[in-house]
This record gives sequence, C-alpha cells and structure tokens, in this order.
Amino acid sequence: MPYLDHAGSTLPSKTQLEEIAKLQSNLILANPHSHHATAIKTQQIVNSARLRILRYFNTTPDDYFVVFTNNTTHGLKIVAENFKFGEKTEDGLVSEISTVLKGGSSNFAYFHDSHHSVVGMRHVVNGKVNAISCVDEKDIWEDNTPEVTNSLFAFTAMSNFCGKKYNLDGIKKLQEKGWSVCMDAAGLVSTSQPDFSVCQPNFIAFSFYKIFGYPTGIGALLVRKDSAHLVEKTSFAGGTVQSVDEMSLFFILREFERAYEEGTLNSYGIAQLQKGFEEVERCGGMQKIQNLTYQLRCKAVKMLASKLHPNGKKVVEIYSQPDCQINPASQGAIVAFNLLRIDGGYYGYTEVEKMCAIFGIELRTGCFCNIGACKKYLGITSEMIRENMNKGKRCGDEIDLINGRPTGAIRISFGRTSTEQDIDALDQMIDTCFVGSDRSFSSGPKALKLEAYLPTVVNLFSFPIKSVGSVPKERYELTARGFKHDRDFLIVKDDVTLNLKIHPELCRLTAIIVNDDSLQIQTFDQNDNFVIPMSLSLKENDAKVVCKKTIATLDCGDKVGKWLENALDMSNCRLLRVAEESKKNFVNDSPFLLINEASVYMLSRHINMEVQDILTRFRSNIVVRGLPPFIEDTAKRLAIENCEFEVVDKCTRCEMICVDPMTGEKDPSLLLALRDYRNKQKMTFGIYIRQTNFESGQILESGMPVKFFTE
Ligand SMILES: *Cc1c(COP(=O)(O)O)cnc(C)c1O
Repeated sequence: MPYLDHAGSTLPSKTQLEEIAKLQSNLILANPHSHHATAIKTQQIVNSARLRILRYFNTTPDDYFVVFTNNTTHGLKIVAENFKFGEKTEDGLVSEISTVLKGGSSNFAYFHDSHHSVVGMRHVVNGKVNAISCVDEKDIWEDNTPEVTNSLFAFTAMSNFCGKKYNLDGIKKLQEKGWSVCMDAAGLVSTSQPDFSVCQPNFIAFSFYKIFGYPTGIGALLVRKDSAHLVEKTSFAGGTVQSVDEMSLFFILREFERAYEEGTLNSYGIAQLQKGFEEVERCGGMQKIQNLTYQLRCKAVKMLASKLHPNGKKVVEIYSQPDCQINPASQGAIVAFNLLRIDGGYYGYTEVEKMCAIFGIELRTGCFCNIGACKKYLGITSEMIRENMNKGKRCGDEIDLINGRPTGAIRISFGRTSTEQDIDALDQMIDTCFVGSDRSFSSGPKALKLEAYLPTVVNLFSFPIKSVGSVPKERYELTARGFKHDRDFLIVKDDVTLNLKIHPELCRLTAIIVNDDSLQIQTFDQNDNFVIPMSLSLKENDAKVVCKKTIATLDCGDKVGKWLENALDMSNCRLLRVAEESKKNFVNDSPFLLINEASVYMLSRHINMEVQDILTRFRSNIVVRGLPPFIEDTAKRLAIENCEFEVVDKCTRCEMICVDPMTGEKDPSLLLALRDYRNKQKMTFGIYIRQTNFESGQILESGMPVKFFTE
C-alpha cells in the first residue's frame, strides 16, 4: 500500500512484529515495584532498555537520565510542570505573547513552527513566568538577545509540517545566554539519529512509534544529569516515593527517574523496544534511512514541481524552505503542498484526501497540529484563524477552503519502508484526478503491483430480478450460486425473457429483498410498489431457457403479472422464480461481478458523469475501493476475509451501459469513454469471479478487507 504518512507514525515491519510475538510468547513480567525474582527481572529489563536508548543516541548514563513517558507530549508536560522558573517578579498571568526574546528571569519561549504539544506548554507554565515569547529561528542568532536566568526554551528540532530541521547549534547558543533547552525531538527522530554527545539539550522528549512504529504509547524524556536540579517534583504518586505519611505533608521522593515515572510502567512495551532498535539496524541503521528518505523526498518534490496544467500553470504549490538551503542536515523526509486548479484556484485538501482513499494512497491533510507553520506557509493571519473559527472551522473537520484559501495542506512523509513506487502511485493519482481539463486518459507511471494494496469492499449489490435495478445493502449471505436471492427472479413477456438491452423500460423498476422474507418491486419514482412473500407457494412452470441455460422455474401468479404490465406498459408479462431445487439461477456468466471504484472514477472524470450513475449502469455485485484504476485487470485470485475467489473472466461491455437508468434513453458517452481507454482492445470493465471455498453461513459485508493476487 502506498503509505505516505510516516511522520504521523512510521509502520512496524512484519519481521519486527514476528520477533516481538516470539519474544512476548515467552515473557512473564511483573510489577517492577515488587521485590520477588520476576519483579527484579522486570526491573532489569527496564534498566537495560534505558541503556539501549542512551547508546542509540551516542550518550551514556553518566550524562543523561531516561524517564519513561507515554509519548512526547507527556515528556514535554513533565518539563513544563516541574521546571523551576525561580522568583516571579511580574504580578498575575502573562496575557500577551512577545515576539522577541526577553531578558531577565523566569521566561518561556518557543518557535512559531511548533507542534501544539509544545505551544500548549505555555498554559502549564503561565503563572510561574514573567514572559512568554514566540520567535523565529533567526531571533536566536541576534547578537543583542538578552541573557536570562531560570528560563525555558522549547526547541522544535524538526518541523512536523514541512520537515525543516532547525540548526541544533541554536541550542548551544541559547544555553550560552542562560536558557535551559527542552528539545521536541519527535519529528527529528523519525528519520534521523541525533548525537547527544555533541548537541546537549537539557531535556529531550520523543515517542518511540515515530522511530520504529511499535510499540505505541511509550516515549522517553532524557534529562541531562547536570540539569536535574532545574526541575523539582512537588507531588508524588505510586512508585515515586521512598517515604510518605498520609497524615502530614511529609514525603521523600525516590531517585530521579523513579520520581518522575508515576504509577506502573508499561514494562511489556519497554521490553519490546529492543526489537525496534534491531529493526533500525536491520535496515542498515538510521543514517541509511535518513539518506534513503531524503532521496525519496527530493524525487517527490521534483515530481510535484513538474506537474503542469495544459495551459502551463503549475498544479502543485509546495511549502518548503528555499531549494538552495536543502540538504539532509536541514531537511527531513516531508513534503507539504496543496493542489491548484487550472484557473489557479485551490483544490480543497479534503477532495484530494478522498481521491487518495479511492486510489489506496494514505497521507495526512490539515494543519498537522502545527498552527504556526500552517499560518506561515499558507499565509493565514491570527485574525483569519478567529474569523474561520466563527465560520465553524474546527481542527480535523472537512472545511478545507474558506473564501477560496486553504485552511490546511496535504503532507506526504517517508520512512524506512518507502519506495519510489509510492511516489509513482501519487503521481498517477494526481495526473488522473487533478491535472488538466482536456479529459484525455493518461496512462500514468506504473504504480505498485496489485498485491501491495489493501483495498476494502465499499458497496455490495444483489439484483433479485434479472435486469431490474437494485439498491446496495451492507451485508449479504453467500450461497453456492452467489448472493442469496441474486437473480432468483426474471420477467418474461410472451414467454420471452426481458433484458435491458431490448427493454430499457426495465430500468423503471428496482427490486430488493426485504427482511429476507419478501421481494419488493418498486417503480423508479417510488410511487407504486408490489410485495411478494418469499414463502408464497408457486405454481410449477415449464423450464425456461435463459442465456442458453435451461432452468426450472415457478410462476409468481397473475397479480404481480398485472402489476408489471401496468408498470412497464407492456402486455403478457409474468414474473418467474427459479425453482428451489435448481442449482442454477439467472446469472449470466459467473456468480459475482467485481469492479474497482477508481476505474469508475476515471471514466466519470473523462465524460463528466456521476460516479454513482456509472456504478448503476455497470450492475456489479462488489465494488472495491483503494486501488489505482484498472489494476484489477491483473487479478487472478482474491480473498475477502475468509472467502476465496478465482477470476473467471473480464466482463465485456456492450451498449447496455449506455442506457440511462433514470430515463431509459441511450447515451453512448460511457461506452465511448471505455473504448477510448481500452484503445482498440476488448471493451472490458470489471472482473467476473467465482467462489472456490464456499461453505454455508458465509457472509460478505461492506468494509471487509480484500486481498488480491496476480498469480
Ligand atoms: C508527533 C509529534 C509530536 C507529538 O507526539 P505524541 O507522540 O503525539 O506526543 C510533537 N512534536 C512533533 C514535532 C511531532 O512530530
């Protein structure tokens, strides 16, 4: 699957998870606060994990404490809560954020380009500080920045918005001016391995899933040993005290790390960290991952920058530092961008995200919890934020454009498992969905093989009456001949089977099975309907020949016959049902027809017809989402959960797809589009499949994952 959200969380590898499962199956741990042998073993595992972490960052237990946390946010909060800001000289709360670094005592500062978890620290420290400043990197390097005491700078090492890496020499510079520096390393560690023997922030917070994907819910706060006195823990909890009296205010905390690790640690998770470090080593080390992901980022930027509309206007607006400043030391594996319409206006990021979902591409959209970077790169002002909020804009919602301006961006980010094909898949999606308006088919670059995608079922249809319309249902029971009741019925006129090709009037009807016990036929305008209980005993009838098959049928009686004659404006109509004992039903070739939503989308864009409209015309049973267009043509087998299918054939299309199901009129554009796409080859769309492991009681449901195989 083209996964382009490694900055959100990188993914654990299969080997890593298998190693962890092996480890876990023989691992019995206990509460490390107890004193028995298993507790001592647990304590040792935790301590050895601390050493492993320090070694990874090229430092030692002489230099840093390792406090286990839940995540980066938790580590930052511990620093904010416990940092000793000293004597506060100004009364009351700080009510305005300064744009310059202030001198004196008890200040707090951070970059504009900071994660909300960093910005949020200001509300923890407000009340203890004289000034709060929000600055740019260059402000650190001003010669006239004043000296401070008892002050804390929350330093973002790498922007999670655009991947800009901040110059870590700035940390030393700040320390020389008297600042204590707390590094938010969450972004940086995802594709880099900072050396904390060279750059020595007083505090460093990060989460492990950003480095190797699993375990989640564990982070660390590294505290320089000579900075331990900068924080003071003024509260305690289970596991953190040496001595306490519940009846007085007396308590004595344990040694540093234990004093900050409140409650019981996630010792199983901590034991699994070693498998994460081994995973990084298996990939050749973080330096290699940094180089690989940096190269991929360059390739992606090149691809995006080269996209032009037919009128020569660019398709992609990239948010990044100037090209000339970029190298692996200054830039991580992230690209933030928005897409532009042919007239220069913006596409909303929600629309892009929806197309990605159809094509099976996973990336992130929005502001990524970094409002400062969003404002800077998107040109949003503080006033606009308030105004947008009044218009109903909330973090994570689908309001992606306000007055034509984007409220967020699209972010792709790379990790150790990323490949060039991930970029190709994005390339193809942008070409297909967002470039140009000349509506020509672009074949696009070769994306990944079918096996690499993880599509899901989005729609399931059964057609109780052959050639009559239907509505999708969430869930169907399987039978040996397809979905239960699929094409169990058929309409004849003068004993001849009606089909859509010759009788487009059939599209005036829809049929569904209600509550599994009755067939409901409805006119398209929903003004009239007819219900037949499935239990109705029917008169035996002559065997009918349908599509060259002879099938035993039952006649459903005069009443429904009359109703059909009326609805279809036709004489001598009868509704027939396949006889129970028949092994066959009225399905043409194969029990199921499967189509790919992205292929539908591709045609829809080409001829300006609604996806839903095209879906109705293709009369498929199973619609899958999460594949690039037309890649389903390469499938040989597939599995939907535990149901296995083989591909019988491709579905060759005829003028039937030209019938507008609303009006019954024929309009050839869809067929012509398919012809253009197939370019002189057979006009197929969708694949016929047959189940190979049928057992009664199996069901298919929308949302189920689909696994395809090309051999
Ligand atoms: C991911 C991230 C965070 C937040 O990490 P959590 O694990 O959610 O606490 C903070 N800052 C940056 C730069 C990040 O990338």
